[in-house]
Amino acid sequence: MSQHPTTPGALQSDGASRHFMPVIQPDLAGLYSRRAARLRALAEGHDHADYLRLAARVAEAQASLLPEGGGSGPMDASAIPQEGHWGSLLDRLIERLAHDVPATVAPHLAALRDLPADARLGAAQALAEGRFDAVPAAIAPFLWASLSLQCASAARAAPMPASGPAEHASCPVCGTAPVASLILIGDRQGMRYLHCALCESEWHMVRAKCTNCGDASDLDYLSFDTAEATVRAESCGVCHGYLKVISLERDPQAEAVADDLATLTLDDAVTAEGYQRTGFNPFALPG
Ligand SMILES: [Zn+2]
Ligand SMILES: [Zn+2]
Repeated sequence: MSQHPTTPGALQSDGASRHFMPVIQPDLAGLYSRRAARLRALAEGHDHADYLRLAARVAEAQASLLPEGGGSGPMDASAIPQEGHWGSLLDRLIERLAHDVPATVAPHLAALRDLPADARLGAAQALAEGRFDAVPAAIAPFLWASLSLQCASAARAAPMPASGPAEHASCPVCGTAPVASLILIGDRQGMRYLHCALCESEWHMVRAKCTNCGDASDLDYLSFDTAEATVRAESCGVCHGYLKVISLERDPQAEAVADDLATLTLDDAVTAEGYQRTGFNPFALPG
């Protein structure tokens, strides 16, 4: 009887690990509930506590609206608004939030609820096409939450995209920019994945290279705390872009959307240094 020992060092290579997947799709119910819990924890003592708690309520509402038999519909971001299903998700999202939002938010929710269908479709289309300045910031995150829920549930019901050697700057499932990149733990200890701002998929990219242009020659890591901070901005001197890297090795409770949203002052500092963010947060869409 012969033995087949694993090759020493095989697990050190991302490509050779039996756990390696080019794209992973976190279970949505678990993801939304982790996100909500993390947002509530980060809200404690935070300057923008009310907004972090509002984002937590949106994540909880998304979890409660997950389609029971799985999702359906297109995953190409620009095709989603025409498909229609997100509109009823938005109505139910607004209904669930209506009784439990700050007084400053309630009128915007009501205005979004009462928006004529063609104006609502136009706003959704603008967001899906990345024309964020065409939609008032007070209603955009709620629209985005319904588009995202539609796209994320459809992505989990569809076959995974074929794997390839390319490491994409934008999501290989839906084509949207990332929120941030994550350094994972557990079976994927130390591996880096980017988290999609729309379909909540995560895709692999080796560490220590620019997630935007792929160059590795002029990277810097910026944070307010020590070099061991959980959230750092990975900036690139070649394309002058940056995206945050959030380390679950340093804090296992960290979550892409929540930890990014709670550290927007880091964005202000990095932008002041002349770098441009190459992704965005669903709750802080670029204006
Ligand atoms: Zn995506
Ligand atoms: Zn770059």
